[in-house]
Order: sequence, then C-alpha cells, then structure tokens
Amino acid sequence: MTRSHGREYLAIPGPSVMPDAVLRAMHRAAPNIYAGELVEMAYSLVPDLRRVARTSQHVAVYIGNGHAAWEAALANTVAPGEAVLVPATGRFGHGWADQAQGLGIATDIIDFGKSAPLDLNRVEDALRADTAHRIKAVLVTHVDTSTSVLNDVQGVRAVLDAVGHPALLMADCIASLGCDRFEMDDWGVDVMVAASQKGLMTPPGLGLVFFSDKAAAVRARLSPVSRYWDWVPRANPTQFHMFSGGTAPTHHIYGLRAALDLMMDEGMEAIWARHDRLARAIWAAVAAWGQGGSLRCNIEDPALRSRAVTALRLDAPDATRLRDWTESEAGVTLGIGLGMAEPGSPESHGFFRIGHMGHLNAQMVMGMLGSIEAGFVALDIDHGAGALSAAARVIAA
Ligand SMILES: *Cc1c(COP(=O)(O)O)cnc(C)c1O
Repeated sequence: MTRSHGREYLAIPGPSVMPDAVLRAMHRAAPNIYAGELVEMAYSLVPDLRRVARTSQHVAVYIGNGHAAWEAALANTVAPGEAVLVPATGRFGHGWADQAQGLGIATDIIDFGKSAPLDLNRVEDALRADTAHRIKAVLVTHVDTSTSVLNDVQGVRAVLDAVGHPALLMADCIASLGCDRFEMDDWGVDVMVAASQKGLMTPPGLGLVFFSDKAAAVRARLSPVSRYWDWVPRANPTQFHMFSGGTAPTHHIYGLRAALDLMMDEGMEAIWARHDRLARAIWAAVAAWGQGGSLRCNIEDPALRSRAVTALRLDAPDATRLRDWTESEAGVTLGIGLGMAEPGSPESHGFFRIGHMGHLNAQMVMGMLGSIEAGFVALDIDHGAGALSAAARVIAA
C-alpha cells in the first residue's frame, strides 16, 4: 500500500513548484525567434521584472542558472586583481566568493558561521580599514538558502554611506526574490542577481542581473569584458540582443511570461504577505513539535528568518528518515540539509530544509505539515503536540 499517489509537492528550496499556467505556456512547438510574438514577449518581460525587483534601472537576462548570474555580475564590475568584501552567512555566500576567486578577484571573506546573519559592525570595520578603496563591491546574500538566514541588505547600504566607501552593493536574491521583501532602488542596491527557478516559478535556465546606473558607469570603465557576460547589449532594449545575439531561450520566455502574469495579478505586497503568513504557519508548527522533541529552526530569531526557505535541525539520522518517509509515503519531497555538515557524514542526517517559495498556498503548507506529523508518528520520532492547530491558527488569523 502506498499513500503517495496523487499530486506531489516538491518542497525543496528550488527548483520550486511550477504553476499549471507556466507548464501550459511552455507546452508548444518551437516559435520563430526572429519576429512576431516571441520577440514582443521577450521585451515585455523587462518592465515586469523591474516591478518584481522594485527598480526603475536595468536588467540583463542570461541563459544560465544562478551561478551564471553570479559570474555575470562580477564580470561586469570587478577586474581581476581587484577585491570584493564577502560577509558570508552560509554556503551560498562562500559560493559567490569562490566564483570571484575563479575570476582572479581577491576576496575578503568575513565568515558569520551557519546560524547567524551578517553583523553590520564587522562589515563597517572592514570598510573603514580599507582607506585605499581596494574593495570594489560588497557581496551580500539576501537569503542564504543553506542556513535560511535573512540578511539586512539595507543596513549594508547605510554602512557604506556612513563610511563614505564607494564600493558597489551587490545582493544575491536568487532565493528571496518574489518571497521576501526586497526593494532594489529604495535600499540602494547596485547589482542584484536572481534566477528563474525559485520565487519566479519557472524552470532553471534564466539568470537575471539587475544593475544601477552607478554599476553601469563602473562597467563602462572596465575593459575588456567577456563578450558573453557583457550586460550592455543584453540590457539595451532597442535591439534584439537581449540574449547576446544568440538563440533566445524560447520556452523559458513563455514560461516566465506566464509566471510574471500571475505575479502582476497578485501584486508584490500581496505576494510578500502570503509568503510571510505561510512561513509563520510553518514556524508555529516547528515550535510546537520542538516542545517535545529535538526539532529546531536553524535560525532562532524569527525576525532573522527567510520567508522562502526554512532550514531545520533534527537529531541525526532522523532528518533523513523523515525526508525519506514523507517522499515515499506522502508525496512530499523535503529539502536536504546543505552546507551544514560533511555530505554523507552521520551528522549530515540531522538537517533538512523546507522550501516554501513561489507557487504555494495554505492547503499545500497544511498538507506538507500534516505529512511531517504523520512521518513523526510512523517513525516514532519524539515531537510535541498541537503543531497542526498552531499552524492552522496562524493561517486563520
Ligand atoms: C539557488 C541559489 C544559488 C544558486 O543558483 P543555481 O541556479 O543553482 O546556480 C545561489 N544563491 C542562492 C541564495 C540560491 O538560493
């Protein structure tokens, strides 16, 4: 007997659940890439992407994943031999730093561990010490998907201004865009990177780089810039060089168009409020379960947690047992722990993550939480009572 037949829920932090409207939009024959609907549609993405990022400035679209966007952002702004400051709050902060190193960029990493946000005082100390302005950019991970910590991007802008440091402020919003509030222009962000497969609900394959006029001026002074990563032809809406002269990502354009239609209908404020409510329901359940067992949110303070993903600790090996059970018996796939312990080590089985980004509603969250509860019972894992009613109260409030 299996209890998993029926619609499945991929509750991992990317790729996220794709709406039927996105799937339907992509299910079509190859379109003409030179004229007609597809060309118009590609242009139409730009204003809506700006609305999602809360910017009136520029966006370049790459055929690539988040790693591509990371590299594109750096390739347009920092030359080999120059330096960046990286306040790292998990695996993804270190990942972006590693990419910078691959481009010959020096990285000053401040490591804040695996369960804490960046500390603005330490960022300020590092910037004040850099009187020669060798640091050209500060690379902030808005939400580090491995730890699920939410960082204060706006605070880093305030520090840069207070110190009078000219470095660009760059934000990785690959996990957070369309989930956690983000205001590119109001927060003074110069470069923001995102990808299609998380809050944007489209398959992996599009990397997005938003950039400010200030970043554009930095790019103009940089030479040479790799032809492929150069954002200038991609962000120029007067020519169809959006995809650097090469073949457009045809079906991704249809999919992203459908996803942006859903997002524009709902509105950014409503999208953020929905993610906030659903995340709080999950945290309420975790708090109740934790009263009678070892389950804990990796980030203790709710104010410092992402609304896109929640990283959790559960005594090893129960996190892996639970994930295996919910996937095979209930049709819910939970995320593996990432960057918290050596992969495959006994400790690695004490972490998991819940992805709650994008196309997600109350019944999906309640079903996912109910499946975890059933897993606890089936596997005889200690847990407190009342988790589902705690979650229901948050949703009903
Ligand atoms: C997913 C993710 C990445 C990497 O994106 P890929 O598409 O897997 O290359 C980078 N940073 C953050 C914060 C992410 O969540």
